[in-house]
Amino acid sequence: MTEGEPIGCHDCGALHRWHALSDGQRARCTRCASVLYKWYATGPAPTPASMVAITLGAVLTYLIAQCFPIVELELNGLTSGVTLLQAVGVLWNERMEVIAAMVFFFAIAFPALELGALLYVSLGLLKGRLVPGFHLLLRVVQGARHWAMTEVLMVGILITAIKMTGLARVIPHPGLFAFAALTILGAVVLRYEPRALWTLGDRFMPPRPPVTLAADAHPLECRSCGLVNQDRPEGGHCCRCGAVLHHRVPNSITWTWALLAAATLLYVPANILPVMYTESIGGTEGDTITSGVLLFWNTGSPGLAIVIFVASVLVPVSKLVALAVLAGTAQWRSRWAPAGRTRVYRMVEFIGRWSMLDIFVVTLTVALVRFQALAVITAGPGALAFGCVVILTMIASALFDPRLIWDPIDNEAMSGAKHD
Ligand SMILES: [Zn+2]
Ligand SMILES: [Zn+2]
Repeated sequence: MTEGEPIGCHDCGALHRWHALSDGQRARCTRCASVLYKWYATGPAPTPASMVAITLGAVLTYLIAQCFPIVELELNGLTSGVTLLQAVGVLWNERMEVIAAMVFFFAIAFPALELGALLYVSLGLLKGRLVPGFHLLLRVVQGARHWAMTEVLMVGILITAIKMTGLARVIPHPGLFAFAALTILGAVVLRYEPRALWTLGDRFMPPRPPVTLAADAHPLECRSCGLVNQDRPEGGHCCRCGAVLHHRVPNSITWTWALLAAATLLYVPANILPVMYTESIGGTEGDTITSGVLLFWNTGSPGLAIVIFVASVLVPVSKLVALAVLAGTAQWRSRWAPAGRTRVYRMVEFIGRWSMLDIFVVTLTVALVRFQALAVITAGPGALAFGCVVILTMIASALFDPRLIWDPIDNEAMSGAKHD
């Protein structure tokens, strides 16, 4: 970005002008208080060499994490250890293909896609050129980033390991440490804001005519690369990344309602049906989400009980309620507390992924507890329903256009971004 270039607020659609910030500063939208960008996005752009170094480190850590077992259980001389991919395979063979696919995409495929595309793009920049499909790849990085859940998986691994200490001796393996390192490296890679990468790419492109932001120029913000386009028709293409431009996400409210209705229906079986079956000499026992929480609570792990309760009950229910309120008030063009509702939307976007925690815990538990003579744990249909609830609500919040909250309120005049 260059000084004075227009920038749209992702959450309310207000247009601002870009200004460089000093260390530690964040630019907030003057209308809805969303963070527009942080100081490190305004400093010197990351050099291609540093990008290649960090991304390459992350790719190698990713390979170690995926190729080595995460933890091993030892019980009466029997051992059982798995890599993440083997855990996915166990679920697949148990005919829980949907859960297996979810874990595969969120914990294996999307992180690989993000890191792979980032490495390829930055290697090209290091050689001083744009790789073919540069803009498409950056959009892949952005999309994959939204669905890659390494940090959620890491917490899931820790919970599973703590849970298993009551059953068997838990031996940590290289995969565990690699996932921990990958979580940290992931946070560093995240600092390569897509905006900084788009800006790096701009150096190789012919200069664009300046955006005037005159009302009759119909400025349209690209939801993909953030560029403010002008004189482009609704449904036209972004002049930088080629994404389709829309004034608002098409049929946003209808989609949100439809996905919410499906998620609410599935939430009932998700809570009634068992998420796990434990087969032991004493017979088969089914565990629902609630009974799992109670079990932790009663066996002296109130901390774990609270974490699982928050991730599996509190977060999904509050998400369903919050999205219904957002969709309803937007549909009836309510003018009530727009800044508060935007905050609720940001929270829904932020916490949504953490509901996958229980799915990761179920997967790892099922894959690890395979002591044929003593106990075998299998996944139940409740886990499938619950996984679908998480995905449906994540898509619903991605398709809800928060700018609809602000539409009934008159567009404020073009203003500068506030610093804090
Ligand atoms: Zn805003
Ligand atoms: Zn674009």
